[in-house]
Amino acid sequence: MELEQARTEAISGSGTGRAAGGFSGPDQPEWEDYSRCIRCGLCLNQCPTYRELGVEMDSPRGRIYQMVQVAEGRLGLGESFVRHIDLCLDCRACETACPSGVEYGKLVEAARAQIAQHYRRPWLERLLRSLAFQYLLPRPTNLRVVAALLRFYQASGLQEMIRWSGLLETFPRLAQLEPLAPAIESPTFFPQIGKVFPARSERRFRVAFHAGCITNVAFARLQEATVRVLQANGCEVLVPQGQICCGALHVHAGLRDEARALARRNIEAFLREPVDAILTNAAGCGSTLKEYGYLLRHDPAWQEKAAAFASRMKDVTEFLAEIGLTQPLHPVPRTITYQDSCHLAHGQKVRQQPLLLLQSVPGLRLVEMPLADLCCGSAGIYNITETQLAMQLLRNKMEAVNSTGADTIVTANPGCILQLRAGVKLHGRGQRVAHVVELLDEARSG
Ligand code: SF4
Ligand code: SF4
Repeated sequence: MELEQARTEAISGSGTGRAAGGFSGPDQPEWEDYSRCIRCGLCLNQCPTYRELGVEMDSPRGRIYQMVQVAEGRLGLGESFVRHIDLCLDCRACETACPSGVEYGKLVEAARAQIAQHYRRPWLERLLRSLAFQYLLPRPTNLRVVAALLRFYQASGLQEMIRWSGLLETFPRLAQLEPLAPAIESPTFFPQIGKVFPARSERRFRVAFHAGCITNVAFARLQEATVRVLQANGCEVLVPQGQICCGALHVHAGLRDEARALARRNIEAFLREPVDAILTNAAGCGSTLKEYGYLLRHDPAWQEKAAAFASRMKDVTEFLAEIGLTQPLHPVPRTITYQDSCHLAHGQKVRQQPLLLLQSVPGLRLVEMPLADLCCGSAGIYNITETQLAMQLLRNKMEAVNSTGADTIVTANPGCILQLRAGVKLHGRGQRVAHVVELLDEARSG
């Protein structure tokens, strides 16, 4: 029903927008980028929102057209424009499909920067955005407090009691979001920041690990597995002190000044010591970390350092495939299917490396998933802000997963893992959801 409403709104473009005036101020979609679109439409069927809504204005071509209209002052930067740009997952599948080399991610992120500067959202939305982007993600202390409260809620039996009581049913929005909340792990990974982990065999490389923000509380065991796998493959692993959230969610939300402030802090922390590579296990973060050079291109004091940082940045699967596995590889008897993370496949063009690593593990049987590189609906905070459409995408994804008969879904991004775990609960067959490095860790220990 709500999807139908979204379709109707999308077709009518409900809300005609404010007075036209074009883009203004910093971080505008640039002519060099949008003028590359030749309107061929080859991206349309690769776009998850177009596939669901069937509306041109919710396709990459349609969204670029609207950006041009706003840039030329023919369309207001108002409700209709904001709605169509909000509905975009920023999954960048359209970039992979585009024969003309349109870098759509740059365009939509700049359009969102314009929205953040010039469009006033409803007060509740502003409040929640401010709490998340200013007071939670960039502040590890606040993140730890919120994680501790959530952990208490989950581990004390309160969560089970509230589910059992049916109380959630009286708050439909909360009931919708509850399965998406990450399970908080204890102990968190925060105490490991600042430590150095020696190579377990002869040292071949010295790497620095970017541990992220939410991953430190919701994926602490994955963080530890990542360090162990790197150690087992001849890497000394530094987890530099002073590192902070990468700013990817800020970039996706159009908060570029906030993202630049975080980027400067990370660059400072990671360029202190010479390393062969800077690594992440989160594809969504990696995509932004690799684009620090672009983010800070107009900042003379930081552009060079940002480019140096970005040139060293790699996804952990990309790096391990490049250096070759030297760890023991014991059999892991599982049937797996691989879900491409959008920001790894489309954002970073890393597609084969995770598969090569998985294929090297004896006992793993890989069954290809139909439309493996179509977004699962996670997309940063999209599943929170656009829950209805995200859940429809997840339902489709789980149909594809179930058709493979695999007992394990493997991916390379914590955000996708959370979404797919919710998918297993809602539509799955009890599958396990794991990161590539978790299977390598399992193969290591036998
Ligand atoms: S495929 Fe590229 S050039 Fe063609 S319509 Fe889509 S964005 Fe434009
Ligand atoms: S980024 Fe994804 S959702 Fe957005 S227009 Fe491109 S393909 Fe569609």
